[in-house]
Amino acid sequence: MKSEVLSLPGAMAASPLACLLLDKAIKRARAERVAPREVVISDQRLPDARLRNRLIAEAALNGLACRFGSVPAGDTPDVFFLGDRPLSLRLPPGLNDWHAHTQFAYCGRGIDLTDAARLALHLGVETQGFSEHAFALYFPSDALKFRWQGDPDAVERVWATPGRGRMAAYRAWVRDLRPLLGPRVRFGLEVDLFGGGRFCLAPEDLEGWDYLIGAIHAVEGLSPGATQAQAEAAWMRDVERLLQQPIAILAHPLRFFPWDGRPTPTHLYRPLARMLAQARVAAEINHHKNPVDPAFFRICLEEGVRISLGTDAHVTRSAGDLLPHLETLRQLALSPSATLHP
Ligand SMILES: [Zn+2]
Ligand SMILES: [Zn+2]
Repeated sequence: MKSEVLSLPGAMAASPLACLLLDKAIKRARAERVAPREVVISDQRLPDARLRNRLIAEAALNGLACRFGSVPAGDTPDVFFLGDRPLSLRLPPGLNDWHAHTQFAYCGRGIDLTDAARLALHLGVETQGFSEHAFALYFPSDALKFRWQGDPDAVERVWATPGRGRMAAYRAWVRDLRPLLGPRVRFGLEVDLFGGGRFCLAPEDLEGWDYLIGAIHAVEGLSPGATQAQAEAAWMRDVERLLQQPIAILAHPLRFFPWDGRPTPTHLYRPLARMLAQARVAAEINHHKNPVDPAFFRICLEEGVRISLGTDAHVTRSAGDLLPHLETLRQLALSPSATLHP
């Protein structure tokens, strides 16, 4: 990897999103196979010492020292320099992110929906979708242990309360945000199964969303000692059940296996793609702690399955992180505009 100085011109350093843009510039440099040696930030338009400190902290998060001085002039808040080479942070047209989380998630406490939306749109994401976990809205934080999946009575009890956990509050918040953020920001939910294949969404929560994503984070009733064959059969059973629900996208389609410490069953790529095609559900490219095998998506394309992009952002700085997705699209020879769009 080459090493270069990364410089932020005044227009970018003075942006209200400056710290987040610095993070993006460092990621972009690494995607260009350049290891930034140090960060130099134009001090011409920096409003105050507080922003200076935040930029120093941002560079430090990435293991870099940061100094202030004169840098080449950039006239938009999208352009930074690697050495003397100007690079834009703007993403190519046609990219939509259908999968990001919010401050209501338990699995990510560092995201602010409006900042994340602003950042994504600034970078050129055409539609930014937020799809909070339905289970996180219904149940307290130990929901991440997925015990509710095998306890339908507990689910029914929550659904019978007026607030349905935090779901009613979330719905009211989304209602308030829609006119502020406009039509380029969409709201959905990421929904799991429970109780023998039921959709974990109360009847009164089915409506009001722009789209729903289905996800299998845990396979109900699967014991830790189950064989690979048993795990595959139980997972396929759940995929089949999930695809009968009104979902537009299957999130991180095969992630269950690596997260459960199991090999990914590549022999199921074709059967899964056929099930998705039949159900008219898109397969999601998701790089969030998730291995992506282009071979699976190649089979999806052969079977006529739409491809959806999801950052699965759990922290604000991950909003608009679509560079790995662009690399996967390149491997598939698929243009961004051929992926799922509004
Ligand atoms: Zn998920
Ligand atoms: Zn997610």
